Amino acid sequence: MAGAEAITGAQRAPEGALAAQDHAREELAAQDRAREHLAALIREAGSVVALTGAGISVPSGIPDFRSPGTGLWERMDPTEVAHIDAFRADPARFWGFYGERFASLIEKRPNGAHAVLAELERRGLLDGVITQNVDMLHRRAGTRELVEVHGSIATSSCLVCGRTVALAAARALIAAEPDGVPRCAECREPLKPDVVLFGELLPQPAFARARELCEGADVLLCVGSSLEVHPVAGLPLPTRERGGAVAIVTQGPTPLDGIAAVRMRGDVVAELEGVLGALDRPDPA
Ligand code: ZN
Repeated sequence: MAGAEAITGAQRAPEGALAAQDHAREELAAQDRAREHLAALIREAGSVVALTGAGISVPSGIPDFRSPGTGLWERMDPTEVAHIDAFRADPARFWGFYGERFASLIEKRPNGAHAVLAELERRGLLDGVITQNVDMLHRRAGTRELVEVHGSIATSSCLVCGRTVALAAARALIAAEPDGVPRCAECREPLKPDVVLFGELLPQPAFARARELCEGADVLLCVGSSLEVHPVAGLPLPTRERGGAVAIVTQGPTPLDGIAAVRMRGDVVAELEGVLGALDRPDPA
């Protein structure tokens, strides 16, 4: 099947040329073709790797801060409050915000899209998940080979002595300290969550591993990422340069839509469950 046939939603007939009903039917058929095409690519691939962004966690109730009008981020500018300079200048203010973020993330549960990726790995069809998310939902869903390129809320560390505490311990410290700043038991320095703040570089070992996975991938399945935040946004390029296919499942446009072999624009849970369904059907080839 040609890549262009698999593109859903992009080929709209001229207004009025088709009845709305025909149009809807055509869209559904295109959606099915895209799912079948991606299932076929996954079956044929030696290595499949997933790259996920904020969009995969939206159905779990975690808003993407790039979408206006949602939750915590509506009241503050994340690039200012979640910045390494803000942490260093005023840890109490930083933790006033980040403690609330911990509390909002800790009750969230993985959704069907996280579950499909964990299931593909269990079946030996997926080599790993690279995520920009810090919410721990992939590991809660059961993904084992996980590269968290922006870190995660699972631990917080002392920048002076390197001592690390787990999320539950960090939350207990936040609650116990009068100023709400969790501090290192060793040197009393404020702890920092092990997430990549604005103004910080990505952890090099994680990024090197992500790049290695993308270079070796026959299929890179990008889910819920706008592919706009560098350097992660550049990860599909080595896959493409080595002859692999890039599949993009996200609602908004991405700068890499032009190189995508498969482009899906539906709800991420429905699209990935649809791909799993297509894999469960006998191979038509
Ligand atoms: Zn310390």
